[in-house]
Amino acid sequence: MAKLEKVLIANRGEIALRILRACREMGIGTVAVHSVADRELKHVLLADESVCIGPPASTESYLNVPAIIAAAEVTGADGIHPGYGFLAENADFADQVEKSGFVFIGPTADTIRLMGDKVSAINAMKKAGVPTVPGSDGPLTDDEERTLSIAREIGFPVIVKAAAGGGGRGMRVVHNRAALINSVQVTQSEAAAAFGSDVVYLEKFLQKPRHVEIQVIADGQGNAIHLGDRDCSLQRRHQKVLEEAPAPDIPQDLRDQVAEACVNACIEIGYRGAGTFEFLFEDGGFYFIEMNTRVQVEHPVTEMITGVDIVKEQLRIAGGAKLSFKQEDIQFRGHAFECRINAEDPKSFLPSPGKVTTFHAPGGLGVRVDSHLYDGYTVPPFYDSLIAKIITYGEDRSVALARMTQALDELVVEGIRTNTALHRDLVRDAAFAAGGVSIHYLESKLED
Ligand code: ADP
Repeated sequence: MAKLEKVLIANRGEIALRILRACREMGIGTVAVHSVADRELKHVLLADESVCIGPPASTESYLNVPAIIAAAEVTGADGIHPGYGFLAENADFADQVEKSGFVFIGPTADTIRLMGDKVSAINAMKKAGVPTVPGSDGPLTDDEERTLSIAREIGFPVIVKAAAGGGGRGMRVVHNRAALINSVQVTQSEAAAAFGSDVVYLEKFLQKPRHVEIQVIADGQGNAIHLGDRDCSLQRRHQKVLEEAPAPDIPQDLRDQVAEACVNACIEIGYRGAGTFEFLFEDGGFYFIEMNTRVQVEHPVTEMITGVDIVKEQLRIAGGAKLSFKQEDIQFRGHAFECRINAEDPKSFLPSPGKVTTFHAPGGLGVRVDSHLYDGYTVPPFYDSLIAKIITYGEDRSVALARMTQALDELVVEGIRTNTALHRDLVRDAAFAAGGVSIHYLESKLED
């Protein structure tokens, strides 16, 4: 196939709108699928066609594989874009899509499976020369002596992690020998209940790391490039809050070295599409933790500093095209930030759905807003609370930050509560402004 003709967007909210815009630019037809609670979503109103696929609960709509495939069949779509979350990293879904004769806009089901199991992902990365966290080199067994001796070798504290874990769940930090075996057993039974697999492994627990990730894109035809790094250390409960690109204060040769290892890994595993290698960065070392086989929420900061439209590139590659860039074509210019605006109470962080009476987006040079909000839109209570991403670009970090400060001051969302005040506070924070805070910084700041 030379090009996709009609794409079904198997997602909602800002990312569905982002995908719709990329399709429009490329002359690709669009099909929106939505739950009964989402008839008023901006992309649903804008799409060429739309299909209601079920009740509000995601399990019955956005996770309802037969309903999504049926919608693709009745509308004659040829590709399905899963966005992020929902079915984006579900290998069985990718399989179903392809078996039903549609193009899954992402990697192959086998790649998703390989990367979805953290033990096999780590092994594949090691083979490709990507640096990993010192750990158990595979699953723990029920040999308690062996587990104890592995932990002794790594050195406490260690973290017990479920191979099938995700979303920040299925992990337990262990500070000493006495607590180890019990923690392993508890994590095993939790993992069995939550993920259907009790396989767990051990890693050194890094105490004050930063979260630094590398964006890659590959065509599955032997070509892969990286689009540099992002720092996503500002997190609350393992959820990213504010991201930037490039990650501040990392020596260029180290950046290049890790990014090249990621590109090699892509070629080695035959990776296809956009992907992200996530690392913890501590004391000048990169340690791979996992790979996300999909577009990420924070992809715009990379687009701003490279000029590459990641979603369009995903669509091109899925249509069978080769990568349109070589590594040497990619120029990194300037700096970008992204603030995730959530419909939530700024103090309790509880979701705050409801009717948006006023939405006024900021603007100006170097300001981008990815949001599905409009005046009169009602944020439903059933889904993720992300309602807008404010992205700013500047020729350097301080210009990008000054623009973000201004953009946040201009943003008006009335009728519901949002975390805008938290972002306004963060962009004025001295440690954040200096750059390079650890993944614990935001939570410790919130405790004060
Ligand atoms: P998930 O798939 O659930 O997101 P990850 O493996 O990406 O799991 O880990 C999520 C978060 O847990 C990381 O961003 C980091 O904050 C913390 N974490 C994971 N592994 C370690 C480790 N070895 N040392 C310190 N923190 C870790």
